[in-house]
Amino acid sequence: MDREQFRAAAHAAIDDIINHFDTVPDRRVLPTIEPGYLRPQIPENPPLEPQKWSEIHADIESKIQPGLTHWQSPNFMAFFPASVTYPSILGEMYSAAFTAPAFNWICSPACTELETIIMDWVAKALALPECFLSTSANGGGGVIQGTASESVATMMIAARERRAREKTLAEGFKDGSVEYENRVCENRAKLVSISSDQTHSSTAKAALVAGTRFRSIPTKLEDNMELTGEAVRKVLEEIEADGLDPYYITLSMGTTNSCAVDRFAEVKTVLSEKESWKRIWVHIDAAYAGAALVADEYQHIAQNFAEGVDSFNMNMHKWLMVNFDASCLWVRNRTDLTNALDITPTYLRNPYSELGTVIDYRNWQISLGRRFRSLKIWFVMRTYGLNGLKAHVRNGISLGNIFADKVRSRSDLFEIVTTPAYGLTVLRVRNPAAAAAAGDVPNGTSEHKHIVQVDEKANELSKKVYELINSRGEVFLTSTVFAGTYSIRVVNGSAQAEEKHILRAFDIIVETTEEVLRGKQ
Ligand code: PLP
Repeated sequence: MDREQFRAAAHAAIDDIINHFDTVPDRRVLPTIEPGYLRPQIPENPPLEPQKWSEIHADIESKIQPGLTHWQSPNFMAFFPASVTYPSILGEMYSAAFTAPAFNWICSPACTELETIIMDWVAKALALPECFLSTSANGGGGVIQGTASESVATMMIAARERRAREKTLAEGFKDGSVEYENRVCENRAKLVSISSDQTHSSTAKAALVAGTRFRSIPTKLEDNMELTGEAVRKVLEEIEADGLDPYYITLSMGTTNSCAVDRFAEVKTVLSEKESWKRIWVHIDAAYAGAALVADEYQHIAQNFAEGVDSFNMNMHKWLMVNFDASCLWVRNRTDLTNALDITPTYLRNPYSELGTVIDYRNWQISLGRRFRSLKIWFVMRTYGLNGLKAHVRNGISLGNIFADKVRSRSDLFEIVTTPAYGLTVLRVRNPAAAAAAGDVPNGTSEHKHIVQVDEKANELSKKVYELINSRGEVFLTSTVFAGTYSIRVVNGSAQAEEKHILRAFDIIVETTEEVLRGKQ
């Protein structure tokens, strides 16, 4: 493809993309194709001879579009949003053009320097404590990872090395000796990471990657699925009674199931109770809900991270209008990271790195090469301004409140399972017989405290309603189970989401529930 062919193709692609965004609200969210739909349409082998762009281009509409699930649709209310905006796409275009796997500063200084500055911008936008800024006296700073899963795994590896090496030194072994390395390995084998049973599965996966044990701490519906200090103390005591060494905990600001926020203050108090617990690495996973910190009314939450928190992550690519991938990770002490991950063979050496005055982000992540991700964040933050980001997040929260109120207004049909938060509402369909038998008169106030017991009929009805809605594809929802309670999650953080979309979703849920209760399905 030469420059003029590229110019023509790129202009057409931009028109396609604009048309895609214009038409996406009217498209079915879920595709109608069956698994394996694509293979018969694509040749078994790559072409031997060059193909014209016009042929390639045509396949987007005929072969790819039919198999898309429309995450950008305002009717997508499943999982968490995965936003994208025009300035973000522009950032991706320049990033591709400037491709340079900038692992060391010298490999593309603009890539490294913009990332450091932009991570400070984002930290300030979220009102994160000063200790996470690259300019902090304690050596903090931010780095853009691909995903929250990478962020968590990277933190767990840093935590593992900090704990195993500090312990080995404290035992009197001499750093660098064979005995020291052998003992580090023995100490690693005793390490246990922990998190609540509501924490995203990336923490359990990170433990697999880090090669350490993992224990999940039970949460309760009565506690709104929040991790309590008492539950943490219990598991820490059990781990130590087993002769093992707890070294890492993920606390969630906004769990995937219900946007529960763990009880940071309680957990921190518990961690300060024993010398051996004080050095447990505390990571805050705020992959989705952390975006809410841009809004002034949520910023007080970030004060919890000023002390006793080692790292924090938030995905711009969920709710903050930057497309995948842009997982922002901050650490309090960058040397915890670089001590764990810095391997420097001769071919990676250069005078700037040797001076120690530049950041080489390869030592802050698992992979070597990296993308120029800060461009898209920079473009989005400038195009919308902080006020635009605040307005976007507030829109999602306000739509969530409208939806939750609608659900409460039909307490004859539904119960809210956990406290609605950050735009997410979790509900279940009521079992009419059980409600009547309990003399539980619907009054619009049903919240999680009422439904700590498992109700098989309510589970069956909720599952039926959920499956029917998704099979019809006008809106896309996800389901979950809390302590045996089957529940439906509804969240709308799309950049195009308006009140009419959430009201339509509510109508669909009501109509489908009535249909199921009438026994039509
Ligand atoms: N943490 C939380 C709270 C999440 O909800 C998710 C995904 O939804 C993740 C982590 C994992 O995100 P990623 O796909 O960026 O690894």
